[in-house]
Amino acid sequence: MDFFDSLIEKTLKEISDFSSEEYAYSEKDSWQDIGVNQVILQRDTLCELDGVGFNLVTSKPVKDKITVIGPDLQKIKSNCSFARVSVIEIDSEEDEQAAYNLIRKIEYTKYHTFPEGYMIRTSSKGSKEVVRVAKSACKNKISFQKVGSLFIKKYKENPAVKGVNIIFITDPKADFGYFEKAAEKNHDITETLNHAINNLNFDCNTCKLKPVCDEVEGMKELHFKTKMGKQ
Ligand code: SF4
Repeated sequence: MDFFDSLIEKTLKEISDFSSEEYAYSEKDSWQDIGVNQVILQRDTLCELDGVGFNLVTSKPVKDKITVIGPDLQKIKSNCSFARVSVIEIDSEEDEQAAYNLIRKIEYTKYHTFPEGYMIRTSSKGSKEVVRVAKSACKNKISFQKVGSLFIKKYKENPAVKGVNIIFITDPKADFGYFEKAAEKNHDITETLNHAINNLNFDCNTCKLKPVCDEVEGMKELHFKTKMGKQ
């Protein structure tokens, strides 16, 4: 699966000039998952992180780690902009349909992860991710390393997930507009992949997905191959 590789490259380049902290994944240090949705009231909230969260999958090797760019949770004292990018190595799937299904399955991880005192509100379409951090979680020493380790543990419940670099960005100097656009692009590539696998309509001149196909190597060939296979 290399359809997202160029977006991964651009995204890693986007953050390459920022100083960052890197932490090893530690399953035993994972933050507690309370297993259900929680409501953190305004009066119990330390801060809100407002931004996007999305996954970028690849078949290239990815080392398990947590990367933090900007202040960690213990240092954030007021609401701030935020982005979470999970770069995920998956088994190299020969079958694109299986790869697409896997991408969707991995996406559901965020709807089944409930870090204590870290309330995540999302919308799948726009990749919006707003996190409310509880004062109590701060007292209990919550950190991105611990929350990130919990996410990695959850991703890895799927045996096709081989490695995860989860990147949290809170540096106010970061271009958060870039991450919004990258999240949209990620969504568009996934939708185009779905179209190329399942739709027999092959008319590039009228197809609204053409800008994605022009940019992502191999997508047109995939659609053509699928069409030929189904005829
Ligand atoms: S190959 Fe052509 S028809 Fe197929 S998704 Fe891309 S632009 Fe659309």
